[in-house]
Amino acid sequence: MPTRSPRPGEGWLRVASSGICGTDVNLYAQGLAAPTVLGHHVAGTIAAVADEPGPRRWSGTVGQRVVVEEYLPCGTCRACLAGTYRLCPDTDLWGGGRRIGTIPADEEPGLYGGNAEYLLLPPNAVLHPLPGGLSDELAAWVLPYANALDWTVRAGGVTKGDRVIVLGPGYHGLAVTAAARWAGAHVVVAGLSRDRARLDIAELLGAHTVTADSGDELAASIQRVLGSDPADVVVDTVGPAPHVIAVAVDLLGQGGRLVLTTPKNPAHVPVDTTAMTRRNLTVTAVRGRRPEAIATALTSLADGTSRLQLVPSADTTLEGTGAMLGHLAAGTGPETPHVVVRPHAH
Ligand SMILES: [Zn+2]
Ligand SMILES: [Zn+2]
Repeated sequence: MPTRSPRPGEGWLRVASSGICGTDVNLYAQGLAAPTVLGHHVAGTIAAVADEPGPRRWSGTVGQRVVVEEYLPCGTCRACLAGTYRLCPDTDLWGGGRRIGTIPADEEPGLYGGNAEYLLLPPNAVLHPLPGGLSDELAAWVLPYANALDWTVRAGGVTKGDRVIVLGPGYHGLAVTAAARWAGAHVVVAGLSRDRARLDIAELLGAHTVTADSGDELAASIQRVLGSDPADVVVDTVGPAPHVIAVAVDLLGQGGRLVLTTPKNPAHVPVDTTAMTRRNLTVTAVRGRRPEAIATALTSLADGTSRLQLVPSADTTLEGTGAMLGHLAAGTGPETPHVVVRPHAH
């Protein structure tokens, strides 16, 4: 697809990295209504800015390195005016909203996703400048790590010394592990035995790990690592299977917090409300991230304290992206869950 001159308010990004997340794999596996350039965790360099500012709400100059949020907020609703633009109805993928990486390619110029050499920056794009010391490699972590900081530190209230259990060592599971370690928590990451390679990466980030292939076994394995102490926070990144929620409630102590991060089915699960009430538990569900979390992510990635530089990256060219999505959907993807499209690599 060709690029064209930017119209008033628009610009172009030369894409350096486009991280593949679970949402992409689900979209790929389910099939989309129309051909679409996927990719919504995008970083790159501003390549063009229209001379006429038009309705442009972002600022930036040619040559500047930025990370692009997937949101295309309206700018005028209550959520937007309050600064919580991630909750703008226009960004709600499940309510007919539009985001970068989900807009069909038949909408001109077709380049609304990160899995391409160039990405159109519409007037309502949300950009954040990258600090000079942050490499292109680590820039690919900005959005998932910002998600993880928002979910773990803000929503989960994780602070130094907390005992945190992360369910699932996938892309966001590892980001949550890094965020909880950054906050000074003791972290246990739980996965299935087939997740061993990913759990080894979690150990590089400073977490303990356990494997189990059933809910009962999971609770017992985690309890062995925790000793007699209950958990302060459980962050679920695998989807609320009934046994997972039950295990989380069992492991949490007084005042414990359970953070739900993924809308996978089944959506309805039984919970022991008596146990929850007696122990004063909080359940929080999260989506996306606040802009403050991006600022924290940028600082912590640039100064090395995120430790995410220790996570191997599986890079793919544009030509290899379809095959890579196929492998991820089939569960035969690379050992590391950090998979990045580099459109200018060959
Ligand atoms: Zn995503
Ligand atoms: Zn809005």
